Amino acid sequence: MNYNNRNYNNSETKKLVRGLMGTKYGPIILVLLIIMSAAIGYYYYINGGSSISADAYAEYHFIDVGQGDASLILTDEAAVLVDCGTLDQSDIVIDYVSRYTDRIDLFVFSHAHDDHMGGAANVIRSIPVDEVLMTSYASDAVFFEKALDAIEEYDVQVTEALPGGTYTEGDVNIKVFAPVTDYEDHNSNSIIMRVEVDGSSVMYTGDAEHRTEKDALDEYPYGMKSDILKVGHHGSSTSTCEAFFDAVSPKYGVISCGEGNSYGHPHREIKAFFAERELEYYRTDLVGDVVFTVKGGEITVNCGE
Ligand SMILES: [Zn+2]
Repeated sequence: MNYNNRNYNNSETKKLVRGLMGTKYGPIILVLLIIMSAAIGYYYYINGGSSISADAYAEYHFIDVGQGDASLILTDEAAVLVDCGTLDQSDIVIDYVSRYTDRIDLFVFSHAHDDHMGGAANVIRSIPVDEVLMTSYASDAVFFEKALDAIEEYDVQVTEALPGGTYTEGDVNIKVFAPVTDYEDHNSNSIIMRVEVDGSSVMYTGDAEHRTEKDALDEYPYGMKSDILKVGHHGSSTSTCEAFFDAVSPKYGVISCGEGNSYGHPHREIKAFFAERELEYYRTDLVGDVVFTVKGGEITVNCGE
């Protein structure tokens, strides 16, 4: 059948409906069709995406940077870096990223704290970066000023992360859920964003705490469901409230934190909560780098390689 030659105009649809209504089971079939399409639409609305397609390919790397965050997304079409740890860790991150790619299409700064972007200037000076995604909430810290200097010197495009905004980089689709307003501290102004590649998805949270999570949920009650959750604020009990966790309802979690860190991350409340929810989660302080590979419609996990 050649669909190109068929013209589904309004009057044909009317004819089809009239025809169906004229048959014995027509009205029932019509009602069932309407219910089915509504159910499918609702499912996608709630879940924010489709299931992983068989030919999908993506790698979600959570690089062990001690107490900090650094995540790399690799697909057939794009390389995206989300945070890069402290200045001290920048050589490790640059070496790690360089093993897989000679460019970064998009570099996301979750928020202006040095355990997330202390080494950003070094990264930009070492690996060509095409674009930076960040909020407008600035900092007067030296590492932040240096990152801005490097952005200017290397002519990197800067895009502002706005709540509800969607950003596409090749086959990587990003939706920003937070911050929905300006808060007075850096952690609260963390970007919460869902990254989707061919039906696979990760929720990145920076160091967002309960208030940011709840405000995002109020604004965007649906579409947060993700396969993997980068657990907020290194597993602090001030992050990952129950409502947010349920909205994401991840299959896997990753806690990026340093061995023996002075904050006690991850906090026991979070460990108890994840045990209660039977979440399969990985801690960089215990297993090193964590890599999720999406292939053949499935997600596999490798640690410490
Ligand atoms: Zn942090």
